[in-house]
Formats: sequence, C-alpha cells, structure tokens
Amino acid sequence: MLMSGTGEGKDDLELISAGPRLYVLSRPSLNSEDLASFLSEEAAEWKRSSSATMAEEIIELAGRICYMSFGRRQSPKSNAAYIRRLIEQQHESVLEHASWTLLLTGISRAFTHQIVRHRIGFSFSQLSQQYHDEGNTKFILPEEIRHSPAALLLWLQLLKQLRQGYNSIVHNLGGVESTEPKERLRAIRSAARSVLPNATETKIVFSANGRSLRHFLSTRGAVEGDMEMRKVAALIFSRLTSEAPTLTSDFELQVHNDGYPIVRHVK
Ligand SMILES: Cc1cc2nc3c(=O)[nH]c(=O)nc-3n(C[C@H](O)[C@H](O)[C@H](O)COP(=O)(O)OP(=O)(O)OC[C@H]3O[C@@H](n4cnc5c(N)ncnc54)[C@H](O)[C@@H]3O)c2cc1C
Repeated sequence: MLMSGTGEGKDDLELISAGPRLYVLSRPSLNSEDLASFLSEEAAEWKRSSSATMAEEIIELAGRICYMSFGRRQSPKSNAAYIRRLIEQQHESVLEHASWTLLLTGISRAFTHQIVRHRIGFSFSQLSQQYHDEGNTKFILPEEIRHSPAALLLWLQLLKQLRQGYNSIVHNLGGVESTEPKERLRAIRSAARSVLPNATETKIVFSANGRSLRHFLSTRGAVEGDMEMRKVAALIFSRLTSEAPTLTSDFELQVHNDGYPIVRHVK
C-alpha cells in the first residue's frame, strides 16, 4: 500500500508495475505408451505411488533405470522417499529429467540481470528493448522506497522524466513512425533505451529443471536484502511445490521479520 502524503498524482502511480507474476507454460509429461512398451520389453513391473506427480514419476523412473530396480528389485519406498534418498545421496543429476518452462512478468531489468547469471540448467528468452517500444513501460517499485514518502516522490519524478526522455529521444531520432525500416528502429530504440533505469519492467521466459530450480532456491531464496529476488523465489517455491512437492520438501516458505517472504533451505 502506498503511503499518503507523497503528493503523487494518478498519472505518476500509473508508472508502477503490479509486481511479479509467474506462469507455468509447460510441465513434465510421461508418455505412458512408450513407458508401457519399455516395461513390457524388459518384463519389468513398476509399483507406482498414487500420490506422485508426473514430474516426480519421471525422476523416480530415471533413478530406477540406473539400477533396473523394478519388480522384486523394487524396495517398498514411496516415490517421495525415493527422491529424498536421491537428494541425500547427491545423486541429483536424476532431478534434471523434470523440466518446466516458466514465464515471469512484472520484474525489473535489475532482477533479470541477476537471474541470467544462472548458467547451468537454465535457458532464457527475454523481452527485447530493441524490437519492443518501451515508451509506455512501467517500473518496479522497490519496497524500501514504497514505504518512504519522500523517496517515493523523488522516485516517481525521476522515472517520469526518464520515460519522457526515452520518448523524446525516439521522437528526435525520427523513430515515431512505425513505417521506419526495422534496423533503423532497432538503432533508435537501442539509443533511447540507454536512459532507461534498472527498475524498467520486463518479461522473461525461462526453462529450468528440478535440480537447477533447487539450486536457484538455495542460493537466492534467503538473501535478506534482495527483496525482488525473494518475492520471485517465493513464487517459484510455491509453483514447484504443487508441481513436485518432494523437490521442495527440504525448503520452507517463511514470513521474514520484515513482513516479506523468504525461502529457506532447512535440510
Ligand atoms: C548473495 C549473492 C551476491 C552476489 N553478488 C554478486 C556480485 O557482486 N557480482 C557478481 O558478478 N555476481 C554476484 N552474484 C552472482 C553469483 O556469483 C552467481 O553468478 C549466481 O548466483 C549464479 O550462481 P551459480 O554460479 O552457482 O549458478 P550456475 O551458473 O547455474 O551454476 C550452478 C553450479 O554449477 C557449477 N558451475 C557452474 N559453472 C562453473 C564453472 N565455470 N566452474 C566450476 N563450477 C561451475 C557450480 O557448482 C555452480 O554453483 C551474487 C550472488 C548471490 C547469491
């Protein structure tokens, strides 16, 4: 909630993004037909846990194929116990067989600069500032600023000016006509975006697997001073928990003493 008394107008509040949203665009899917063919060709019987999600079944299956632990060689462990054991033994490459494609919106360019540093098991596609007109962009308001009327007022003034500056530069360089050749528009937007700040709102699609998402949560979920990262980590934790609860069973989503979420690796 914005504090009153900042003097911000309705137009200025329109600059503020609604904040992060996470969409699961695709999830792991087990092909039952080929699975049945494989089990039949191997004369293998797989006792499946009824509560396991498809992602968890794919992980278990990949683990079992390592040892061909089907039929009489299958221990009575549930799917959840099986995956927890894989994690305890650090046999974690098996977790890489479950992958998701996720879309994040309402996040800042500062945030995406950090997430793309995750090199292993992540693939990214981000909104282009060269092809996309940023003339109406919104901005991510940091919580520290949201709660300080003086800082908020200054922030709104500055960002309004920067967005106006972006539009003026595009205009001065002749880029207002959508009939401009593609590469000319790219050059104009590339030049104009140089005045856009870290807070500029963006969208990013990323594909990641169970192991890389767990690594992300453990390195990024509980960095106290990184509020935007914590909010995104909380969203990822929540979605991953419904997609494959065993993958997050050693993490906890807590409310930190500043009132915002934090994802802790509890072991
Ligand atoms: C609190 C915090 C502060 C940070 N501050 C800064 C900062 O000031 N400046 C900055 O530039 N970055 C900073 N970072 C980013 C950080 O250095 C990592 O780039 C980022 O967190 C990605 O982590 P990662 O390398 O483990 O992930 P990934 O790139 O996904 O790698 C996953 C794992 O694979 C292994 N791995 C990957 N590549 C190699 C390799 N080349 N050699 C050996 N092993 C490899 C490692 O075990 C690694 O943990 C910060 C991160 C955090 C959490």
